[in-house]
Amino acid sequence: MKIGITGAGIGGMTAAVALQQRGFQVVVYEQATELGEVGAAITLGPNANRIFAALGLEDEVAALASATPSTGTLHWQTGERLGYVQRSVEDYLSAYGAVTRHMHRADIHGVLVRAFDAGTDSLRLDHRLTDIEQDSNEVTLHFANGQSDRCDIVVACDGIKSIARDKLFITEPPTFTGLVAWRGLVDREKIPEVNFDPHFAAFPAENKLFGRYPIRHGTLINYVAIASQPDFHEESWSAYGDVADVLAEFSDWYEDIVKIIRATPADRCLRWAMHSRQPLDSWVTGRVALLGDAAHPMTPFLGSGAVMAIEDGAVLARCFAAAGDDWADALQLYERARLPCANKVHMDSVKRGEAYLGSDPAARGQAPSVGMEEVYQYDAMSVPI
Ligand SMILES: Cc1cc2nc3c(=O)[nH]c(=O)nc-3n(C[C@H](O)[C@H](O)[C@H](O)COP(=O)(O)OP(=O)(O)OC[C@H]3O[C@@H](n4cnc5c(N)ncnc54)[C@H](O)[C@@H]3O)c2cc1C
Repeated sequence: MKIGITGAGIGGMTAAVALQQRGFQVVVYEQATELGEVGAAITLGPNANRIFAALGLEDEVAALASATPSTGTLHWQTGERLGYVQRSVEDYLSAYGAVTRHMHRADIHGVLVRAFDAGTDSLRLDHRLTDIEQDSNEVTLHFANGQSDRCDIVVACDGIKSIARDKLFITEPPTFTGLVAWRGLVDREKIPEVNFDPHFAAFPAENKLFGRYPIRHGTLINYVAIASQPDFHEESWSAYGDVADVLAEFSDWYEDIVKIIRATPADRCLRWAMHSRQPLDSWVTGRVALLGDAAHPMTPFLGSGAVMAIEDGAVLARCFAAAGDDWADALQLYERARLPCANKVHMDSVKRGEAYLGSDPAARGQAPSVGMEEVYQYDAMSVPI
């Protein structure tokens, strides 16, 4: 059985590694001519780190990022602590069996790419999927480079603008949330006076949010600054941002925030017009399944989009291993195990965004990790399938 994976992002590479480790033949098709991830970081909760450990990647991941010792919500203007949670590595391990980490996307992506055996032409770059069709025997993929290929099964991991989702599923197009997100990276040594306790800090305000955390063992600071700009229009959804625009939005905010933004080099500020799509009630049609943002592109307020993609990949591989040669059974098991869970997190992230950006200061005060118990406890390696 040849399983094709379209998209070599964090979701696609997790699925590829997990399937390959269980002995399946996998071919990954990626539109980019070089593998990599854009310059921003992500939260990886215990539910993601447990999977990396199960894939044998714990040592490599731990060498790149320490556990997150504290998370908090601070007042947007004064920096006063509104919510604060501290956790030692022992606390994490006894509660969840794994830690939370904050990592550069390129670092975790690199770990997954190195874990994948790309021999025998299993990783095909410069393969932008333009069309997908299937019959009862196989799936045919067509690429912008003029090539086509056939697979027994295709797992579409091509992100929020998924070609497979648009061609094979009944779905609305992505809609602009009215929010623009800037993501920046700043060398820690440029802002020695800024306080980084809590390690992860969210500063929510009405219609705006600033979140920041150190990565790479504290040497680099990652931030995301979100503001409501309903009239924003742009052809490209992600592009270099202008640091002056971020400063204009956050000029009267807490002094540490202004210092972080001011220290951002021009080439380390990216801008996203944040889009989302409605949850689907099916991710499988015939021999094709959706995974990650292709299936459930969610807002970032629970820091869980990539984590859900990682869980999808781990569970998918278990389903194929359990179903043997019965691919239809494997895909049904996968959908049944993952769809309700990811769709719930999808909707919860909308609610958390409403609380963070709403007008009620009390709703904004809870620490980012509060209410995440169920998500952190989810064990993709043992959940019933
Ligand atoms: C501001 C912001 C902050 C976020 N913070 C977090 C966080 O803290 N924690 C978290 O878990 N998530 C976070 N997310 C969400 C996270 O970035 C996504 O959920 C995650 O990247 C989804 O991974 P994916 O592999 O499914 O899709 P993607 O990362 O979109 O990868 C898709 C891959 O497919 C390729 N591709 C696309 N189209 C084609 C095509 N036609 N043919 C071939 N290849 C194609 C792309 O080049 C890419 O390599 C955040 C998102 C945003 C916008």
